[in-house]
Amino acid sequence: MDTIASIATARGAAGIGVIRVSGDKAISIAKLCFSPKRNVDIENLPTYSAAYGYVADDGEIVDEAIILIMKEPHSYTGENVVEFQCHGGYLSLQKVLEVIYKNGARPAEKGEFTKRAFLNGRIDLTRAEAVMDIVSAKTENARKSAVASLSGKLSEKIEDIKDRLLKEVALLEGVIDFPDEMEGEFNQEIFEKKVIDIINLIKKITDTYKEGRILKDGLKTAIIGRPNVGKSSLLNALMNEERAIVSDIPGTTRDSIEAEVNILGVPVILVDTAGIRASSDKIEHIGVDMAKRRADEAELIYAVFDGSMELTDEDRKIFSIIENKDFILILNKTDLAVKNPHIRDELQTRFPNAKTIEISAKDFTGFEQLKEATAKFAEVLGEMPSCLINSERVYNALFRAKQSLEDAISTINAGLSEDYVVIDLKAALFALGEITGETLDEDIINRIFEDFCIGK
Ligand code: GDP
Repeated sequence: MDTIASIATARGAAGIGVIRVSGDKAISIAKLCFSPKRNVDIENLPTYSAAYGYVADDGEIVDEAIILIMKEPHSYTGENVVEFQCHGGYLSLQKVLEVIYKNGARPAEKGEFTKRAFLNGRIDLTRAEAVMDIVSAKTENARKSAVASLSGKLSEKIEDIKDRLLKEVALLEGVIDFPDEMEGEFNQEIFEKKVIDIINLIKKITDTYKEGRILKDGLKTAIIGRPNVGKSSLLNALMNEERAIVSDIPGTTRDSIEAEVNILGVPVILVDTAGIRASSDKIEHIGVDMAKRRADEAELIYAVFDGSMELTDEDRKIFSIIENKDFILILNKTDLAVKNPHIRDELQTRFPNAKTIEISAKDFTGFEQLKEATAKFAEVLGEMPSCLINSERVYNALFRAKQSLEDAISTINAGLSEDYVVIDLKAALFALGEITGETLDEDIINRIFEDFCIGK
């Protein structure tokens, strides 16, 4: 396989920057472009050795560096790896990289180091994906969940489920191949119970998907309401800083503003939309459409009303936008003396199952309840499950495995022969194998790694 190289650290000026080189020729390439200060032959150094010296291009010193040598299979990729720890300047790192290319390496593709680690059997796909999640974790919970997956928690669970299934397949195959000897060995009731247990194990994992996905991508939450109810003030209060423009003139927030906040461990992407308002003003109208679109795109809606006055027809327009969606009703400005009991009744009548949270964006009251309701929606309250899934790919594979197992139960209940039940169980095993990457197409594997960044 080619020897590949790329900058592994973030671009920009920094104390040090690391270039990673991996492949058969990694060490011989290092020997060509690096002169150690001590008189050593770097090809003869044991694995995990470091050497200090200079990177040179045709005799001209390019940078001072420390190289770290990892010999196969004791490296991230499982191949020979040399990491060049250089100075962190963008130009300087780029120059060192060019020298490395010149001596026989080629630029690494996105995720190619991790892909090699997977192809060389160092890590399975769930752990490869966890590498990405660690790098991009937005909150402490997301980071913890990624570390759990990286340490193999998810693969362990999948392997356990596969082992249980394999035992059932072996038993059924025994019954098929040696009907006489196996007479009486197979008990349909016990078999069904075991399959149901496996289905429940799978369900326990798929149940974590919503939380996992929100921890990874953030919970997109649109703040909607007619102009002047206090949407921007709410956004600001949640952000604890003045980013949105708060103003007294109705309809000033015409476009939308996005901000990411950490609400009780949930990364929430707040979108403050333009006020919903019937108006002939063209720009305002675009604002209304935008608010509707934002509400459609959001997973959760904060529907804000002004608790100090009667509901207006403009407020009632919000009702139709939030209908059939997930929302939290927010009654703002409850610090004002002119409290209005009717508004609560009307909201209650219109949405009998929804809870209304009373806040004051001005005095910061009611925010604890709002935060709790948000975290509860994201299912991120209480103890975090030991392993979370956050990828649609994994969720779909588990879902298909579960379906095949349900089919197996129907098949056996329909009195069909064991051969058909084995087919269903094997379909489930195949789907589970996709999660760790065992039974996955090369094309799909390539696509997964294309989502990685260069240098990973
Ligand atoms: P938006 O148009 O919905 O984004 O509303 P703004 O956030 O711009 O607020 C409109 C006006 O209401 C501003 O003058 C705010 O200072 C005021 N306001 C917002 N929230 C509260 C609140 O909780 N209490 C009081 N008394 N005034 C508020």
